This record gives sequence, C-alpha cells and structure tokens, in this order.
Amino acid sequence: MAESLLEVKNLKKYFKTSRGMLHAVDDITFKLERGKTLGIVGESGCGKSTTGRCVMRLIEPTSGEILFEGKDLMSLSKREMRSMRGDIQIVFQDPFSSLDPRSTVMQSIAEGVKVTGKYGTRQAIEARVVELMDTVGLAQRLINAYPHELDGGRRQRIGIARALAVEPKLSICDEPVSALDVSIQAQILNLLQDLQHQLGFSYIFITHDLAVVNHISDDIMVMYLGQTVEMAPSEELFRAPAHPYTKALLSAIPIPKVGATRDRILLKGEISSPIDPEDACRFSKRCNYAADVCHASCPKLREIAPGHLIACHRFDINGMIED
Ligand code: SF4
Repeated sequence: MAESLLEVKNLKKYFKTSRGMLHAVDDITFKLERGKTLGIVGESGCGKSTTGRCVMRLIEPTSGEILFEGKDLMSLSKREMRSMRGDIQIVFQDPFSSLDPRSTVMQSIAEGVKVTGKYGTRQAIEARVVELMDTVGLAQRLINAYPHELDGGRRQRIGIARALAVEPKLSICDEPVSALDVSIQAQILNLLQDLQHQLGFSYIFITHDLAVVNHISDDIMVMYLGQTVEMAPSEELFRAPAHPYTKALLSAIPIPKVGATRDRILLKGEISSPIDPEDACRFSKRCNYAADVCHASCPKLREIAPGHLIACHRFDINGMIED
C-alpha cells in the first residue's frame, strides 16, 4: 500500500462572528500519498484556502487530526510547528503581495536557502540561489531585479523557488496561477509538474478552476460551503462526475475545440449561510434534484466506486434519482 505523507481527519475550523459561528471548514477528511497531488476545488468561500492554512497551522483548527509522516501536527508547540515549516511550504496566489518589494530576487530566494542551515558561506548560498533560479526557469540576469521589475509569471517563479529553497516534502499551492495570463498559467503548471517528477514532492493544489487541476492532480476533492461533496481520482471525476455541484462546475469548462459547446448547468437559488448551518444539504437551495430528504438532514460522504466518494442523498447506482 502507498505511504501516506499527510492524513487529515475530521478537520474543522469555525470562526466566531457577531451573527453566530461560521463553519468555514466542517469535518474534512483526506489523505495525500507521497509524490502525489491532491486538487481541492470549489467556489470562493468554500473553505479550500482555510483548509490549506489549517494544515500548516497558519490558522489554528478548531478540531481534527493532522498527521504528517505519522506525526500529529496538532500536538506540536508553535516553536515545533515552525521547524516543520521546512517540510511544508505554501505558494500563494498573488506573487506580488507575497514578495517583499525591497528584496531582490537573490535576497528573496536566499532567505529560504538560509533556513535549511545547509549552506554556511555567502558563496554557497548564492550558488544555491542560482541553482534554484535555473530549476524554476528564471534567467540569471534577473538576480538583482526587484519584484516590480518582473511580470506575474516571473514573480510566481520566485515564489516557487522560495518554497523549493527550504526543500519541502509538501507544497500547498493556493491558487498559484489564477492571477496569471492563460499562457503563463500553462508554463507554471508544467513547471510544477516537472519539479514533482524530478524532486518527488507532493502538492495540495487549491483552485476555484476545475480545468486547472485536471492535468496536475491525482485525486480531486470538491468542496462546497466548508464540506467535501465529492472526492475521486482525477480521471474518474472528469469521466463520471456524480454530485450535481461537480457536474455544474464541469459544465462551465470550455471545450478547447472551435465551435464545440457543452450544456452549461446554471446554478440558481441562493447560497445557504455557513453561519450556524441547519442540518440539511448545504447545496439544497441551488440543486435541481433537491427533495424533502435533502432539507431534513445533511448527507454523509459515502463510497460509490473504489476511491470515489460523494455526499448526496439522491445518488444511487444508476445515477441521480429523478422524481
Ligand atoms: Fe442535491 Fe439533495 Fe444531493 Fe444535496 S443531497 S446534492 S440537494 S440531491
């Protein structure tokens, strides 16, 4: 059996608000094997970024278990957790705001290199920075450039080099390409994939765009209002999506062929409140298949094929139950 690098069990993150308790992440469970990629997909506000930050404990989870190489991250002190950050790194969406505008490319990447403690002299650190620039495809002539002198793609390459500098086992990529032009997006996705093949590390790839995770993910978890509604190997999810929400997301992906179209499933209805949510399917107000049972209790995740889980009352072996 493949070895799990990360196991997240029953993760919850609630925020106290003046209107009640906001259930940002509500009982999420998943596993990530070494060298693999898990895509986490959903609309803005579904809890996907909060999940990523909770795994690193950049945000303290309300409850749950986070096992990294079998070690329970929830039991670590802040100091011990900081030392784990060499193993788990995050690549942010907006490369511009995650870089210090006063630091050159050299200074930004060198910061991560120093963290490893492996490179004692200035020359050794600089040589490692040059090596990392080469790995992520940044020309050496840019070594003294500042972030504002570079385009979005190059800035994101610095972000990736910084994450790589500490030699992580897991990179959490939070919308790493959504601020970039489509052609640059493809370059960065290819780079991330090449690096995975070369260096064997694992990714959690967080995005609102299902099309983006298709090629990079081994497994995909679809989130809706803090919960997992479907999880499956990537190929299976695209071939046989089961949950009405996943189907709607997939229907919005353009087909890369002139004149080809897809029947778009438009989601109507209001989005349920994540504040003190009622015991009902959180998608019920937007779902074309909603029935009484959907308003009466929240569906649990269940396996419908090997490795393929959905949370829906009205899915059976033949598909969605029609009225
Ligand atoms: Fe739709 Fe009901 Fe399934 Fe929720 S449980 S997705 S409302 S059919």
